[in-house]
Amino acid sequence: MSLTEEWMQEIHKGYKLYYQGDDESEKKRYVQYMDDGIRSVKFFSKDNFSKEFDVYVHPDRKALDTQWQNDWKMPDLRSECWMVASGIAGKLDLLSPLKWKTEACEHDYGNKDKTKKLITHELFHIYHAQKNPSPDFAETQGLDWFVEGFATFASGQCDTERLAEIKKAIENKTAPSQLDDFWKGKLKYGLSGSIVMHIDSKYGREKLKELLKYKTKTEVLGALKTTEKELLEAWADYIKKMK
Ligand SMILES: [Zn+2]
Repeated sequence: MSLTEEWMQEIHKGYKLYYQGDDESEKKRYVQYMDDGIRSVKFFSKDNFSKEFDVYVHPDRKALDTQWQNDWKMPDLRSECWMVASGIAGKLDLLSPLKWKTEACEHDYGNKDKTKKLITHELFHIYHAQKNPSPDFAETQGLDWFVEGFATFASGQCDTERLAEIKKAIENKTAPSQLDDFWKGKLKYGLSGSIVMHIDSKYGREKLKELLKYKTKTEVLGALKTTEKELLEAWADYIKKMK
């Protein structure tokens, strides 16, 4: 593999960082974001990662797509412009932030707060995947809302702006009526993040952590002793009462 030979490797506490060429100049900043994010995961979970992982900073969109095509066995995959990273039990894949301006949309590397939360979001996926019997989420069923909602909520991406949009959608009766539609469309982060925020608030952090081990929506709802309909009603009430 000629590509592999170009990777440079740096060993850090808990992870190994792989990067190429131009990213050399930014790697200190990447490490800062990683270390901050790892601290956030530990603080939120009062727990640690169960194993070390790799972090790959891909030099361009083509390299990232090639990686995802191989990992997900989808040879025709062309990632959408807003997709810049992924996290599974053993690794984090990231499109070089130096390329976000030209090869991505919706992300601004210059926005430090949002970039930090984006990296932290992926770290929560890694933490989650290390607790899940399907370490790359390939076998999870009907849980997009929970996997993405967990990472969105825990990383602090479900901010007041997004919550206000969700409140409006609920009041206007345009919010989706089933969980399968939560991780879709423009409001996906707010929808998925806010329902996990509701679960955390109502059932507590320990219960939320217990849910990370489940592979199906049925298991998650069973552990909460609720139905999809009840959960959605309780979520809507919770959001409507928010100031
Ligand atoms: Zn995600």
